[in-house]
Amino acid sequence: MGSQLTMYISLIATSGVLCSFLAFYAYFKRKEIPGSRTFIVYLAVQTIYIFAYAFQLSSDTIVEIKRWTIVEYVGISFAPVLGIIVILRYIDRPISRSLAASLFVIPVITMIMVSTNDYHHLFYKTIEFRDGIPGPFTEVTIGEWYIVHGAFTFGSLLAGVVLLASQWRKTKRAYRKQLATLICGQFLPMIAAFVYLMGITPSGTDPVPFVMCITSGMYIWAIATTRMLTIVPIAKESIFESMREGVIVLDYAGRLIDFNGAVGRMLPGLNAGLIGTKLEESWPGLTGSPYPDVYSPDQAQEAVVEKEDGSPAYYQIRSSVVRSRGGEQAGSLLMLIDVTEQKLLQEQLTMLAYYDGMTKIYNRTQFLKRSKEILREGSDRKEPTSFILFDIDSFKQVNDTYGHDTGDQVIVHVVTVCQQIINADMLFARYGGEEFVLALPNSTLQEAGAIAESIRAKLEGTPLVTSHGQIVVTSSFGVSQSSEDGQSLQHLLRDADAALYEAKRSGRNRVGLAQHPLSRHALR
Ligand code: GH3
Ligand code: MG
Ligand code: MG
Repeated sequence: MGSQLTMYISLIATSGVLCSFLAFYAYFKRKEIPGSRTFIVYLAVQTIYIFAYAFQLSSDTIVEIKRWTIVEYVGISFAPVLGIIVILRYIDRPISRSLAASLFVIPVITMIMVSTNDYHHLFYKTIEFRDGIPGPFTEVTIGEWYIVHGAFTFGSLLAGVVLLASQWRKTKRAYRKQLATLICGQFLPMIAAFVYLMGITPSGTDPVPFVMCITSGMYIWAIATTRMLTIVPIAKESIFESMREGVIVLDYAGRLIDFNGAVGRMLPGLNAGLIGTKLEESWPGLTGSPYPDVYSPDQAQEAVVEKEDGSPAYYQIRSSVVRSRGGEQAGSLLMLIDVTEQKLLQEQLTMLAYYDGMTKIYNRTQFLKRSKEILREGSDRKEPTSFILFDIDSFKQVNDTYGHDTGDQVIVHVVTVCQQIINADMLFARYGGEEFVLALPNSTLQEAGAIAESIRAKLEGTPLVTSHGQIVVTSSFGVSQSSEDGQSLQHLLRDADAALYEAKRSGRNRVGLAQHPLSRHALR
């Protein structure tokens, strides 16, 4: 018995040494360990508990035993609660100060109860030597508060196990080893505490300090091999989660492995239920876009997803191949970058560059560019192209009479009326202030003249209704047509302008046709 006891005390002292070693380690690495202060206190109270228990085992009077028991309870009462706080910190769910403080209510009362037990016997009713033999082993009859303390301790340890275990699915495979270590570190003392609280250990010895020898050893091993307790895994996880870009991880077969919160918000249909399924199958439903080619990283790919309010969100998709350490392809990574803002800005810039802000039809620059193409295509196909240039009659007068704002309204009105006549093949643009131009592919001078006449008549017959009353707006038109000579655009517009000038000169509100190319030939 004596040598067995000595061995037991040595084991427990070893456990205390390991535990204090861990406490010092945590102290020196305090910058890398999240919540290191609580962790150090947690280890320190455990060390106190373990050494006090070793001293209790070497005591042989009830008074001494009681004194060491009080010291032990510094660890026994506070360690489980400190453990919970450490775990909450580790899983990145810190709690408020007031909630943390409320967790200490029962441990503090326990501490007071144990220290003052001789006056009320609410913790231990009696403490006697086992079988009446003086020595380290005692027989205790537990009091009412002991039950409260026991339930609280066991509950705290269990809560710790549950909290850690709940992280299992979320934890990356590489970090599961350290999570498993933490779970064991919580679970083994819990079992030991349970066995002790049930009073079924030999001679009433407390197996917790002994078990802690094992768990401390495991911690040291885990720290040495997986850099456990350092900030790395948590940092990686929180970077992944706090990224603005959406990240999707796929395995080699294109099955969904993981995704971060950002992508969950981008594609609301993407949920944990799809993990393990082929992303290619759910992608069209999730995004309304075809599945990107995940193996051509250089190709810019895009998904357009309808948002809740019905407006589109544009995501640029970048993909990259994930390789294992051996270099073979282990899977792929899809990164979704929200480019909606840029896209809308780009559209706005295009609008500004191509279109006239007031009338929303093409501007002069865009007209010149596009009509050159129309002209070239027409000459390739040996088809005539015609141009209509028109200018609002006496527009200055409108401005002078009704003001500039009404003048603007007249310009918009002319465009609206004109759009009722023309078709999609015709190119319509604002050529200048109150001058407009049309390019008509595959149209002869006569056909274009007829269109111009329709616009003229429609405009004359559709007065603009304003607060000043009805304003009749008319325009004068000049029409030209390309010939087989292949005149330049400039030339044709000059012809149309000359015809327009003629129309103005001969009384306005009429259509002037440029001299027909054939007749020009005939004149030679
Ligand atoms: P004409 O029948 O010979 O064409 O006579 P007009 O008065 O229309 O003469 P002109 O074509 O030279 O007049 C152009 C005027 O249009 C001058 C300018 O102040 C006005 N104008 C040009 N752009 C705008 C615009 O965007 N808004 C308004 N309100 N006026 C404009
Ligand atoms: Mg003019
Ligand atoms: Mg004018």
